[in-house]
Amino acid sequence: MNPVRVRFAPSPTGALHIGGVRTALYNYLLARKTGGTFILRIEDTDQTRYVPGAEKYIVEALEWCGLRPDEGPGFGGEFGPYRQSERKALYAKYAQVLIDRGEAYYAFDSAEDLQAARDQAEAKGETFKYGLETRMQMTNSLTLSAEETATRLAGEAGYTIRLKVPADEEVVINDLIRGEVTFKTNELDDKIMLKSDGMPTYHLANIVDDHLMEISHVIRGEEWLPSTAHHVLLYRALGWGDEMPTFAHLPLILKPTGKGKLSKRDGSRLGIPVFPLAWEGETPEDSFTGFREFGFLPEAVINFLAFLGWNPGTEQEMFSLDELCEAFSLERIGRSGARFDFQKAQWFNQQYIIAKSGTELAEMLRPLVTEKGYEVSDEFLSTASDLLKERVTFLSEFLETGYYLFEPVRSYDEKTIRKRWKPERTAAFNDLRQRLLNTTPYTATAIEATTKAFMADKELKFGDVLPILRIALSGTMKGPSVFDLMALLGQTTVEERLQTGIASFNKLHEELA
Ligand code: GLU
Repeated sequence: MNPVRVRFAPSPTGALHIGGVRTALYNYLLARKTGGTFILRIEDTDQTRYVPGAEKYIVEALEWCGLRPDEGPGFGGEFGPYRQSERKALYAKYAQVLIDRGEAYYAFDSAEDLQAARDQAEAKGETFKYGLETRMQMTNSLTLSAEETATRLAGEAGYTIRLKVPADEEVVINDLIRGEVTFKTNELDDKIMLKSDGMPTYHLANIVDDHLMEISHVIRGEEWLPSTAHHVLLYRALGWGDEMPTFAHLPLILKPTGKGKLSKRDGSRLGIPVFPLAWEGETPEDSFTGFREFGFLPEAVINFLAFLGWNPGTEQEMFSLDELCEAFSLERIGRSGARFDFQKAQWFNQQYIIAKSGTELAEMLRPLVTEKGYEVSDEFLSTASDLLKERVTFLSEFLETGYYLFEPVRSYDEKTIRKRWKPERTAAFNDLRQRLLNTTPYTATAIEATTKAFMADKELKFGDVLPILRIALSGTMKGPSVFDLMALLGQTTVEERLQTGIASFNKLHEELA
């Protein structure tokens, strides 16, 4: 067996869709699993669709996900350059090989001639296809004399090189995921290999590079399956028919409803990310938020994406990247479309947040905390993260649902106050404030002991005291253990908040009376 060499070959035409990240991931996993090589190749031969910044975005997205290429632009490797625009001469050379072997021909048809042919076909209710049935009526080296061809090649008008698809054959592809797929050559067109600007088309460049880079497996989205017929013909035409890579076409990623293909517009329509990182396009419609900006951890995104099409065949759902490398196999990729279940993505994120230590979370939260202008120690942030982590789905939520750990309470849950606060207990609560001021060390256990002793003395129940403390300290009934919360906030802050709280609760009561 040849060593596994797989490539992720995006075109830098904009932000990398999350489906592209899944393709990269599966390639990466196969490489890691087999001790093979994961290659990044930038397919930038289509100048008209080139978007500056897109390559940088792709590299950053892979980096964020932890999918580091072994070879690629900026990553080194023996098979470079890895940007197709830097390999132009190679493609021209192989286009010439195709011509020399009689597998391709020069075409001189002008844009007007092609349009006329299209119009004519359309008038008959057909679609024009430059190929077996039409090529002998067109202006090309098959229909012109050798002299005329030579003259035109030397002329200014330009030409393309087209693949001469053979007649009456069947192309059979043994796709690792889709099984045997058959195409009839009579239905295929003579695809352009080299464009009039001297640039190759995707097809030629892709095959030349896969061959020269010794790619063993082509793992890519299902939308490329139809092109594969031409690719197989091209391998044969170049004399590489015996050294073709194995193909594996990945199932589509479907909309959250399960109906239709997930599109980049679905993201903005549903208010969910469908790109790994945010992207600033030229227009607002072309600008997107990312999983990263949404508050996802890369581990969660990877785990989620791994399951969009693949499953381990066991009940296990949580997989680190290393565990995925271990468990992955192409055989366990399904054929049917995988639903983009955003709830599931959130569930994964929650699990990964819970699994992080307070210190790890504190480190991740630090930039957000700084941005908000909060001044807290690492220790405080770490304890705060530990207290809140079971209650958040996204990193950003730490500072939203748990804002009261960093700044004064903004408002009180009035319903609870109305139900629980008895103004006649003001003196008792003032007593509790005093007892709390005398509590040392100010730990959750000691605070709890103080509070219980107070309740016993005053014959008050948990329901009379804890909700009041909770609302005074955080404004809300939802949150971590009230004693942990008090220990974290510290004696001075607790005293301030209880004082302000009790005063406000009494005022509220007066207003209601
Ligand atoms: N450049 C193609 C893309 O943008 C690559 C498809 C393939 O992997 O062959 O997806």
